[in-house]
Amino acid sequence: MFIKELPVVKRGMLFKCRLCGQKCCCLNPEINEDELEKIRRIYPSFKPYVSPEGRMLLLGEKGYCPFLKNGLCAIHEYKPIACQLYPFYPVEKRILDDILELPRDVEIVRYGSEEYVFLFDEECPGVGEGEPINLVELLEKFLRAKRFLKNPL
Ligand code: SF4
Ligand code: SF4
Repeated sequence: MFIKELPVVKRGMLFKCRLCGQKCCCLNPEINEDELEKIRRIYPSFKPYVSPEGRMLLLGEKGYCPFLKNGLCAIHEYKPIACQLYPFYPVEKRILDDILELPRDVEIVRYGSEEYVFLFDEECPGVGEGEPINLVELLEKFLRAKRFLKNPL
C-alpha cells in the first residue's frame, strides 16, 4: 500500500474497534524480540516467519496471522504494537508535504521538534464510530516501537 493512496486523519475523527478481526489480521504485522518473548509466554514453541530482509512477521500457512482464531486474536493481551496501532499510521508531516496536498482540517500532532500526520486504512469498519482518537497516545506507542522494527510502516 502506498502512502499517497491512504486518506489522512482529520480533526475530530472517531474510532472504535469492532473486534471484527478481519482486515487488520491479514496484514502480517512485524514483531520485535520483546514481542516475540511475550508471545512465547503463551505459545512457547512459536516461530515467526522471517522475511528475506530479516523481518519477523506474523504470517501463517494460510496467508494471515496464525493467532487469528475464529475471528478473534488469541494473543490479545500481548498483541504487537503494529496491531495496536492499526488502522492508523503516523508519518512526519514534512515527508507528506512533499508528496500530498494536505486538507485544511487535517489533524496535526506536535511532538518534540516534529509534526506528525496520521494516515489510515479506510477498509477498517471501526473508523468513524465511537470516540475521538487519542493520537498522542498512538504516536508515543509508535515512536517506542520504531526503535525496534526494521520497517514500521
Ligand atoms: S481494527 Fe478495524 S479491522 Fe481490525 S478488528 Fe478492529 S474494526 Fe476490525
Ligand atoms: S496478533 Fe492478533 S490482532 Fe495482531 S494480526 Fe494476529 S490475530 Fe490480529
